[in-house]
Amino acid sequence: MKIFKFGGASVKDAESIKNVVRVLQHEGFENTLIVISAMGKMTNAFEEIIHSYCNKKDDLPQKIDFVRDYHFNIIENLFTANKPVIILEIEQFFGQLSGFLIKNKNNDYNFIYDQIIGFGELLSTKIVSIYLNEIGIKNSWVDVRDYLKTDDTYRDAYVNWDATLQNISKLNSDNLYITQGFLGSTAQGKTTSLGREGSDYTAAIFAYCLNAVSLTIWKDVDGVLNADPRFFDNAELLQQISYGEAIEMAFYGASVIHPKTLKPLENKNIPLFVRSFYNLNAKGTIVGKGHYLLPDIPCFILKQQQILVSISALDFSFMVEYNLSDIFKILHDYKLKVNLIQNSALSFSVCIEDKFNTFQQFLTEINKKYKVTFSENVSLYTIRHANENAVNKIEEKGEILLKQATKGTVQLVLK
Ligand code: ADP
Ligand code: ASP
Ligand code: MG
Repeated sequence: MKIFKFGGASVKDAESIKNVVRVLQHEGFENTLIVISAMGKMTNAFEEIIHSYCNKKDDLPQKIDFVRDYHFNIIENLFTANKPVIILEIEQFFGQLSGFLIKNKNNDYNFIYDQIIGFGELLSTKIVSIYLNEIGIKNSWVDVRDYLKTDDTYRDAYVNWDATLQNISKLNSDNLYITQGFLGSTAQGKTTSLGREGSDYTAAIFAYCLNAVSLTIWKDVDGVLNADPRFFDNAELLQQISYGEAIEMAFYGASVIHPKTLKPLENKNIPLFVRSFYNLNAKGTIVGKGHYLLPDIPCFILKQQQILVSISALDFSFMVEYNLSDIFKILHDYKLKVNLIQNSALSFSVCIEDKFNTFQQFLTEINKKYKVTFSENVSLYTIRHANENAVNKIEEKGEILLKQATKGTVQLVLK
């Protein structure tokens, strides 16, 4: 089988969904499993619903209406014969959502988040699946939660590979399947999610379990570029990169591929194609075995909204193993993502990301034992295959708070 993944941008409106059909007709859709994300920015819109619900805000109905109107508008512009069918399906999902909002008694934010966030993917896949059936591309809609099993780490669930492999192996490789990215479920059947942007990872999980011939991620860019084109001028296409190089780039924050995507593919040597859904004749980027980076040019990765924290002992003692392990434990307890560390005798600096809004709690805890200073809203630039020219270009962008260089990789924290 081959696996395709379409992200939010590729299904953001009726025209985009028609373009997905163009891609399928151009590439062929036999023995294919398609993983699809929520439409456009709908995951953000569902996050707003969650926020309103949890904070008992009056604007909850308005937030739900926004999401309803968005999907119904697409349906209006897409369907003819199957319109009553899709409306019935969509109403069922909104019914399930309302049912959850009314009945839920669990106060755990992460649990609530996952029970609500998944409707984005459920809605988008239903719409695409029924539309494809309407125009004669016969396919089966699959509820990913019946296949992809995880633990109960809500919002960042770990895959239960044994159960997932067993379930996915039951799929019939002669079919065309449509399923949701980003979601899974616990052994008890509660919905979980794999972390924001996790649909790429879902696609890789299916590729692994089905021994797929390839995975293609369809994007609004020509492929993997040597920098994010939203923040860097003249970004260039990377024609070929090794799994290792792609893992490093994704790990440092190149948001074009979710970092967990690469390992399952590498383990089975399944090539990953990153291609443009506009430009079907272009080859895009091949991630696979072989040449590590072609062309061999510096690559720039930007992570914004970082916090640079500097920690020293209250009694001026050295920052050694004992303190460091203590600090790491506290960072881990508050689920703060560490993107860079630097240590000196008296102070330990760490560049972190406050993904789960726990930084204030972390500060309270760490202040009990250490002296702490921090700088919020800083940017972390990583340059892979750095040269002098590339480093100079970044250094011009702001005040340098920290600089670190290892073989070929230079990282800078700028204010
Ligand atoms: P999806 O629709 O699959 O969710 P995303 O919006 O998550 O797509 O990812 C595509 C975007 O990633 C591009 O539009 C681009 O702005 C951004 N991006 C960041 N880094 C890179 C990079 N190195 N190469 C290409 N695109 C990048
Ligand atoms: N829809 C989810 C998100 O926006 C997952 C994904 O698109 O990969 O994070
Ligand atoms: Mg995305």
